[in-house]
Amino acid sequence: MKIIKTLVAALAVSIAAMSATAYAADKGLVGVLMPTKTSQRWINDGDAVKSQLEALGYTVDLQYAQDDIPNQLSQLENEITKGPKALIIASIDGTTMSAALQKANDAGVVVVAYDRLIKKTGNVDYYTTFDNFGVGVIQANSLLKGLGYPDKKGPFNIELFGGSPDDNNAFFFYNGAMSVLQPLIDSKVLVVKSGQMGMDKVGTLRWLAATAQARMDNLLSANYSSGGARVDGVLSPYDGLSRGIIASLRAVGYGTADQPWPVVTGQDAETASVKAIIAGEQYSTVFKDTRDLAKATVELVDKVLSGGKPDGLDTKTYNNDVKVVPSILLTPHEVDKSNYQKLVVDSGYIKAADLK
Ligand code: BGC
Repeated sequence: MKIIKTLVAALAVSIAAMSATAYAADKGLVGVLMPTKTSQRWINDGDAVKSQLEALGYTVDLQYAQDDIPNQLSQLENEITKGPKALIIASIDGTTMSAALQKANDAGVVVVAYDRLIKKTGNVDYYTTFDNFGVGVIQANSLLKGLGYPDKKGPFNIELFGGSPDDNNAFFFYNGAMSVLQPLIDSKVLVVKSGQMGMDKVGTLRWLAATAQARMDNLLSANYSSGGARVDGVLSPYDGLSRGIIASLRAVGYGTADQPWPVVTGQDAETASVKAIIAGEQYSTVFKDTRDLAKATVELVDKVLSGGKPDGLDTKTYNNDVKVVPSILLTPHEVDKSNYQKLVVDSGYIKAADLK
């Protein structure tokens, strides 16, 4: 009798477990489109979104597009034919998706722009990102801190780099940075020796490190190769670009006792760049915890798909040329040598062993 009771109890537990799985697995498909695997952050984002959605019982189709616009568009078209409940999209070019998103909307799919705004369409429901203007402000303030301003008075020679002009974020980063730097350029505390300013001159298509490196090579040879002029600081909006810029600087002798590294900023707290910060080559980065962005996005999608109404949305900042897209804006943090341990290692974002 006791054995039978035990067997019945065990059976009940496994039936409950099975039906929980069946129920959990029943929540439907979510398509997740990420731009590229060449940058560590998007791999982190994709992994975090996928695992968190799966934990809630969604089936996830995660795709990377190798930074190729037609490739991402066909992934999107294809995904829509699979009948997803929601699409989470980090776009390569935020202006190219209107036709496909019309189809998604017709099919009742919830569309979330992930980190990068999707523009020129009414068929994007939400946008989850960080305070991108704030990222630029942090980068500029960090550049000034690294230069020792205001204790040191300057003038300091700086050069400016921007992100990809087809990524709306790039303008927010640049404008945020210039809101701090422009007054000091006007008052001649900061000197952009090349004179190259404005996103049309400093933008870096597709965020390519090699492009930034080649531009830095040109800037150095045209403006800093004679008369003892040196670069004191470089505004870089992304760690990958910073590494290209640092390679260019190294090639002409920076990073020695005679010619110390300029202050180079960055973004994303990529492992290679946190290592460069520890080594004193890069001055700082901006840490945006992709686990938090994934969490906010997954919670939003789950709430909307469960018939709820998300709260705490910003309804002013992100106009995509058709409408203001309701947004969740998370907080970015400056990371330098003094706080990387606390912010990126102790928080578990990067393993201490990977920084060796
Ligand atoms: C993201 C940045 C990233 C850049 C290059 C931007 O849209 O917001 O975090 O550094 O793309 O991948």
